[in-house]
Amino acid sequence: MKFHIISLGCTKNTADSEKIAGMLAQSGFTWTDTPQESDLLLINTCGFINDAKEQSLGVIMESVSLKNNLPAGRTLKVAVFGCLVKRYYSEIKSQIPEIDYLFDFFNEKNIRELTSLNKQTGASCVNPGRFFTPAHIGILKIAEGCDNRCSYCAIPSIRGPFVSLDEESILENAQKLAESGAKELSVVAQDITRYGTDKGKECTLPSLVKKLSKIKGIDWIRLHYMHPRGLTVKLIDELYSIDKVLPYFDIPLQHVSPRLIEAMNRHTTLAHMIEILTHIRSAYPHGAIRTTFIVGFPSETPSDFNKLISFIEDYPLDRVGAFMYSAEEGTPAYDFARKVSHKVKQSRLDRLMTAQQLIIEEQNKRLVGQVVDVIVDSVEDGNAKCRTKFDAYEVDNSTTIHNCASLKPGQFVKAKITKADAYDFTAELIR
Ligand code: SF4
Repeated sequence: MKFHIISLGCTKNTADSEKIAGMLAQSGFTWTDTPQESDLLLINTCGFINDAKEQSLGVIMESVSLKNNLPAGRTLKVAVFGCLVKRYYSEIKSQIPEIDYLFDFFNEKNIRELTSLNKQTGASCVNPGRFFTPAHIGILKIAEGCDNRCSYCAIPSIRGPFVSLDEESILENAQKLAESGAKELSVVAQDITRYGTDKGKECTLPSLVKKLSKIKGIDWIRLHYMHPRGLTVKLIDELYSIDKVLPYFDIPLQHVSPRLIEAMNRHTTLAHMIEILTHIRSAYPHGAIRTTFIVGFPSETPSDFNKLISFIEDYPLDRVGAFMYSAEEGTPAYDFARKVSHKVKQSRLDRLMTAQQLIIEEQNKRLVGQVVDVIVDSVEDGNAKCRTKFDAYEVDNSTTIHNCASLKPGQFVKAKITKADAYDFTAELIR
């Protein structure tokens, strides 16, 4: 039986989809690259904010329409799971009866239910490799859920409280990723700084990362989603002194107006965020700081917003994503007064990203003329698409090296940056 998974949402979802695809492949299903060719089509949905929910619903409706318009003799089973289902199970169940399998998150029972579909069991493939990222990239999820309860966020109500995955299974998974070709490990959770705190007082992330750095074949370890609340100068130095950990600091700040930091229930202060950024800039001058901001949070005033603009000018950041606040039912902020209109949110988002683009361009121009290590992600028409240590896969900048068809995905090479703009680099290969 042929199967395909459409994986929507965040890297945590990608890690889940990868695991499920591996389980299905090992129980005799055959992966197919398109929904059209599949007999079993699975959709891992995202239910985080309105845009993501609309996208998930759109994909579900397309899949159901595919099922309803198959050529004679063909059948298709549609399975839908993930965060959108967790949030709206009964609505989806009643409004889209064409879905064959509907469950929130995968468990052994669901897998057994699906694998029983496949009569030709036993034709399992040993190591199915990777389905959602190139083989040289491994996404390693280390925990489920979140306890931070930011007032705008539905994830704690979707994914539940923060639960660290046990170290043994994480190391085993990392070993499997390395054996199937991973050279770069992306360590993800809703907030990795909480790792171990649900099992005791201290964050035990440094000892876990130290063990990950010992895994043969892994050359780069990229740490993602470090909530400033759990970050200290001591924890940063413990983590970033570990061999193979990239000088890439992914710290979602969300806002810098003290009043909004509090209203967002971010459990931190502007002073603490500045202390962290200042330390990173002085102790890791060649590092890259990635962050995200939310504009248009209820009661955000022009002066709150101008604080954001001044902040990015005073503390230039290297990689920035920004989102308009999305009112999510079931979150505390949903009932907050003084909502900001969509028009104002949009204009603030545009102003912030325009201002940031100029800053990033300056930041990136500093790399021109420098020789950097890059990893090759793909080679097309003789040109290699690569990334520096400062760029996460499918999130940040890419570096293009022209006329080097001999390079292979997963290869590390030295390259001299010849051109830089806000979002991309051009480089020449250093032989
Ligand atoms: S840290 Fe905040 S924004 Fe991130 S998942 Fe947890 S509650 Fe949501």
